[in-house]
Amino acid sequence: MANVFTNFFKNLTGQPQTDLDSLIKSTENVTLVCKGCNNESSKHQLLKNNMICPHCGKYFRMGGKERIKSFCDKKSCTEMFDTFESVDFLEFPNYAEKLEKAKKSTNEKDAVVCGTAKINGKEFAFFVMDSRFMMASMGSVLGEKITSIFEYATENSLPVIGFTASGGARMQEGIVSLMQMAKVSGAVKRHSNAGNLYITVLTDPTTGGCTASFAMQGDIILAEPKALIGFAGRRVVEQTTKSKLPDNFQSAEFLLEHGFVDAIVPREKLRETLSNLLGIHSKKGGND
Ligand SMILES: [Zn+2]
Repeated sequence: MANVFTNFFKNLTGQPQTDLDSLIKSTENVTLVCKGCNNESSKHQLLKNNMICPHCGKYFRMGGKERIKSFCDKKSCTEMFDTFESVDFLEFPNYAEKLEKAKKSTNEKDAVVCGTAKINGKEFAFFVMDSRFMMASMGSVLGEKITSIFEYATENSLPVIGFTASGGARMQEGIVSLMQMAKVSGAVKRHSNAGNLYITVLTDPTTGGCTASFAMQGDIILAEPKALIGFAGRRVVEQTTKSKLPDNFQSAEFLLEHGFVDAIVPREKLRETLSNLLGIHSKKGGND
């Protein structure tokens, strides 16, 4: 089995680089409304501003490829495992329709984009979860892609940078969905045992099984300002514990205060921060 995967990885690494510039160009005529101030902005303008509202500073949620484009070196990104596609193997009511709708609206096959890229010439493997695709719920394909990128990174001694966003398990895939937590965690551990670095960037919203597993397993855990990060929702926690929770409960700022997050990094500082971290922790011991 291992050989099958190894050969598969080798084939995939020869893929052409993703043309992200054309992706941005294709959004020139799209307009988005800010939920913070109700002002309209063109998506083109927003992408140039890291998807931050120019009127009030609110962070828009980012698609997987938009995210990669925002922080890695130009033309350095190679997408991998992009042929993996979710199927309705349990014949769960309405799942097939929901998948089709998500695939059409995002132009992706599932809720995570994986591959390799560089920042200031420093190579790393990445996964970026995309909340636009069924709230980036964790299904078998999402788990398999993240596991695969960790295995590829382990084999090639690469650090992994993972951007998490998730509404939780993909209930339409039943127990197979929950199994992804353990499967990815195993791959994270093997990557770690081989002496490799794993950085997570928690983005809005990171909840459910994703938080209960690989989102919190990073050697260094960063978060975006005001991101919602939690396991169960606020109402469930309040009802279970019968206590009133503070207003900023499950925010990135609350988690930083309580030691769950190492730093909150604004989008405009992300590239510089990740570049520094990759440099400091490089196995080669330098800022090459
Ligand atoms: Zn705004």
